[in-house]
Amino acid sequence: MDNFEALWAYQTEDIKADAIANAIRRSPVRQKLEKTRDLILDRQKQYKQIEVEITAMADRKDIISQAVEHSESQLRALKERFDSNPPATAEDVKALMAEVSHCRDTIRQYEAEIARIVKESSAHEKQQHIVRMDAANAKKAFDQLKTEYEAESQSKKAELDEQRAKAKALAATVDPALLDEYNTIKKHISPPIARLTHGQCSGCNTSLPSAVVSRIKNGSLVECETCGRMIIQ
Ligand SMILES: [Zn+2]
Repeated sequence: MDNFEALWAYQTEDIKADAIANAIRRSPVRQKLEKTRDLILDRQKQYKQIEVEITAMADRKDIISQAVEHSESQLRALKERFDSNPPATAEDVKALMAEVSHCRDTIRQYEAEIARIVKESSAHEKQQHIVRMDAANAKKAFDQLKTEYEAESQSKKAELDEQRAKAKALAATVDPALLDEYNTIKKHISPPIARLTHGQCSGCNTSLPSAVVSRIKNGSLVECETCGRMIIQ
């Protein structure tokens, strides 16, 4: 067989093998698997973020609780002062009552904030639970898909191995220098060989100058200036 024809026969089987490899890569099950994995990672990140927020809220609650204690002891001190040293004038009474009232307002504000934090914390904990359930469900789906994908790719891989072996057998019939050229071109464009059709490169449909067409017809190695493919008759 002509060297170029041997290469063409090899390309036919080689491209079939590539198509199987691509199908394995683009399998819907594999894509779902990757999506599910991303979802799990996303939920884990979310879970940690909520955890950080809950911790911050707990810290804030501790600080406010301390402030409440401080205000309460201030209030007790005011009462003691009132008992041990009752104010003598109406003005003193007014001043003391204003201090007490201020203290009570502060405590009320703090307690309102604590109530807000508790409510928010509980909402966060609920959210965290949902996120954890989501992640657990996604993990279950992931495991199922993984088993499915492994079974699928096992049969596809057997098919691929068979096709690669077929191509390899044909590669042995091709001139090694020509095969090297084929592999070099294939790094840039695939399939790497195109037929000459009606004076055009069938890879990119560029019309070729007649001198080039003659060289192809004479069996010279010609590469398309437009797409880089090897053009054969
Ligand atoms: Zn071309």
